[in-house]
Amino acid sequence: MARTPDTELDRLKREVAWVRLVEPSGINLKQHGKDYLGLCPFHDDKEPSLAISPDKNLWHCLGA
Ligand SMILES: [Zn+2]
Repeated sequence: MARTPDTELDRLKREVAWVRLVEPSGINLKQHGKDYLGLCPFHDDKEPSLAISPDKNLWHCLGA
């Protein structure tokens, strides 16, 4: 039996999950390489400082 190379698929699913999770809360995400950038909901953000890294399964605020 051939092994299915599903890591890429898992990564894609995770990315979609992140975007689906965040976008309904009004955060407009922009893809930036492997990451997504958006306005941080945790402080008064004028330019996108929220970075989401789906492949690392984390998000962090660059402005804090
Ligand atoms: Zn922030």
